[in-house]
Amino acid sequence: MYDCIIVGAGPAGGTAAYHLVKQGRSVLVLEKQSLPRYKPCGGGVSPAIAKWFDFDFSPVISLKVDTIRFTWKKGDPVESKIQTIEPVWMVQRDVFDHFLVQQAQNLGAELKDATEVKSIEFKSDCWQVNTANGTFSARYLIAADGAAGPMSKWLGFKEPKRRLAAALEAPATSGQDKSKIQFEFGTIKNGYIWSFPKADGLSIGAASFLGGEPDNFQKIFRIAVQC
Ligand SMILES: Cc1cc2nc3c(=O)[nH]c(=O)nc-3n(C[C@H](O)[C@H](O)[C@H](O)COP(=O)(O)OP(=O)(O)OC[C@H]3O[C@@H](n4cnc5c(N)ncnc54)[C@H](O)[C@@H]3O)c2cc1C
Repeated sequence: MYDCIIVGAGPAGGTAAYHLVKQGRSVLVLEKQSLPRYKPCGGGVSPAIAKWFDFDFSPVISLKVDTIRFTWKKGDPVESKIQTIEPVWMVQRDVFDHFLVQQAQNLGAELKDATEVKSIEFKSDCWQVNTANGTFSARYLIAADGAAGPMSKWLGFKEPKRRLAAALEAPATSGQDKSKIQFEFGTIKNGYIWSFPKADGLSIGAASFLGGEPDNFQKIFRIAVQC
């Protein structure tokens, strides 16, 4: 019996695990994928998060960037320097998320990766969490299984509205500008394209604010790659 079971080892799960275990609670983190796991993401992290942790994130910061470049239909560029003391951190999510949960493990949190939660039940005074690798119990349960996870539905929350996004990682090229985050508006209707530099490449993606029709997906992705 654990004090708390956390479902999902993304930043939410890793953070919850770290702070609970630091307060002396027994914690089990259940993650369906094997860590480190790829997560489609731009990987831009606000340095403001540092104040919530007492360890150094520098081993997992790929680059720091202080300039954002905006374009409209690939023209009319506007560059803006971020006015914060610390520039934006660029991270690879597989590395960043794993590092966070490892900090919790170092303090005593247990992690079972490659362990998908299949169902949950509240029985008398504790949560029973069923996985393909066994059943685990805890007094408290944290749903940190991300936007696509099943926990919110099981706990009776409303279905979230989904929006369309596509992301890819591109290897570095010789002329690559690593000094700027770039946002392109106007090419994709009701959406945008982003390009976030990393030490060894680029995270490129596209997303729409409205809609979400599956037949748009291929089109949006093609436009982002061409840009
Ligand atoms: C294309 C894209 C680009 C983005 N870019 C940025 C960005 O640049 N900067 C930024 O701050 N945010 C960005 N985001 C948002 C960011 O990715 C999320 O806010 C963040 O990942 C949420 O963290 P989380 O820990 O809640 O969930 P997640 O990171 O999604 O982690 C949830 C974990 O739960 C696990 N899981 C799911 N179901 C189960 C189950 N049944 N059993 C066990 N484990 C389970 C998953 O495998 C996963 O590892 C982006 C999102 C997208 C989609």
